[in-house]
Amino acid sequence: MPTAKSDAFVFFGATGDLAYKQIFPALQDLIVHEHFDLPIIGVARSDWDLERLRERARASLNEHGGINKRAFAKLCRLLKFVNGDYKSDETFARLRKVLGDAEHPLHYLAIPPSMFETVVKGLDASGCATGARVVVEKPFGRDLKSARELNRTLHWIFPEDAIFRIDHYLGKEAVQNLLYFRFANSFLEPVWNRTYVDSVQITMAEAFGVQGRGSFYEEVGALRDVVQNHMLQVLILLAMDAPTGRGDVEAMRSERLRLLRAIRPLDPKEVVRGQFVGYRSEHGVARNSRVETFAALRLHIDTARWAGVPFYIRAGKEMPLTCTEVFVTLKRPPIAVFDQVKPEDANHFRFRLSPDVVISTGARVKKAGEEMRGEDVELIARYQPKRGRPPYSRLLGDALRGDAELFGRDDALEAAWRVIDPALDDAEKVHSYKPRTWGPELADSLMKDDGGWHNPVMTKPKNASRKSRRK
Ligand code: NDP
Repeated sequence: MPTAKSDAFVFFGATGDLAYKQIFPALQDLIVHEHFDLPIIGVARSDWDLERLRERARASLNEHGGINKRAFAKLCRLLKFVNGDYKSDETFARLRKVLGDAEHPLHYLAIPPSMFETVVKGLDASGCATGARVVVEKPFGRDLKSARELNRTLHWIFPEDAIFRIDHYLGKEAVQNLLYFRFANSFLEPVWNRTYVDSVQITMAEAFGVQGRGSFYEEVGALRDVVQNHMLQVLILLAMDAPTGRGDVEAMRSERLRLLRAIRPLDPKEVVRGQFVGYRSEHGVARNSRVETFAALRLHIDTARWAGVPFYIRAGKEMPLTCTEVFVTLKRPPIAVFDQVKPEDANHFRFRLSPDVVISTGARVKKAGEEMRGEDVELIARYQPKRGRPPYSRLLGDALRGDAELFGRDDALEAAWRVIDPALDDAEKVHSYKPRTWGPELADSLMKDDGGWHNPVMTKPKNASRKSRRK
């Protein structure tokens, strides 16, 4: 088991989109906050030199979070570039040379999944894999079968504890806060079960389309792109039991797996697939594409805690706003002593995961006056208008230290595909919906017996600023 800290950071795909959007900003953040001081080696095929890669890093930071002059100067000093095709042994021989004395490099595969096998074998043949760790990007396979094959490929060369399968959702501050809120408070646990919870819904809405990445999206669709990974991860954190022991990384991962295994594989009849009008005219998209840009689904968890409680997930592009929110509806009081509480007025917990962070609970209070009539109020436990540090910096920092808690294990990845597999591809018809709406009407029918969807709204909670100032 590679317990030593990594002593070099290698990223394959240095000229690519992910490096531009996430990796350079994360590296600068690590330099600022964690005194990161390791060789950073970018590897890619384009005929670039180091100066061009530095310029790319500058442009990336200008666009994503801004430049910190001192940190950027350090990033430039640490940066090296290896130019070459991943299919060529020479590329890896050059990499080994540039790695110098490094004995525990971390290799980040920010490359098309079709290249994983080639790169892993190249690392092995050149000696670059010895004592090393590897970070693998999502999507981890296309379905259960391909995920198993990918795991087999990685295991040829790397032991499981040297493999870090990334899902950046787990690195998000708001997602961490969800887990913390659940297990650091005693008032929640007694109601967090089938006796008190009526239904749970998770919405991930994006107010944009495929942003020029049509050919990428054609291979994926909403179920593979965000449901199999991000949305299921959020569901797991909402529904899992507390892990045993304190700070035991494997106990946490095993508990997540236990919950995943209790989720029934999707029934295609409980999935609504949608496609926004105009998707087929996007560059790189087939004119008769049946790929879903929206998915709404109902899941069931076969545990004593959750039996009979429906879990809904909805994720889509070209929605009215960009926001990820969890809404947990509690059961109404057994009898209506005062006014009749409508389903939509039932008590709830709301977790806004992005763009801002909100943890709140909805309750009924009496309206002033003679009558015993009530109104809804929301009590805000946490409101953070700004994002914290980028999730990739947290995850890269963890991987460099060998801390695997926030990364996917082989068995968990396969269990997640087992849930989604029956609904992939043409399992159900794709229904069109107008851009900037909440998806096809059929998605509302899926939810109608459980009070309907709660469409997130982007308003700052009224009592938020006062509360956060008081902190
Ligand atoms: P890009 O297509 O933008 O970049 C691919 C990179 O791989 C380029 O640097 C390219 O080099 C390099 N490359 C490809 N083939 C070869 C080869 N034969 N030899 C050498 N270099 C090669 O992809 P992304 O950055 O968008 O995605 C990378 C990974 O990250 C994928 O697995 C993707 O699913 C995942 N991901 C991406 C996200 C994003 O926002 N972009 C979000 C989450 C995950 P060159 O350009 O020099 O040819």
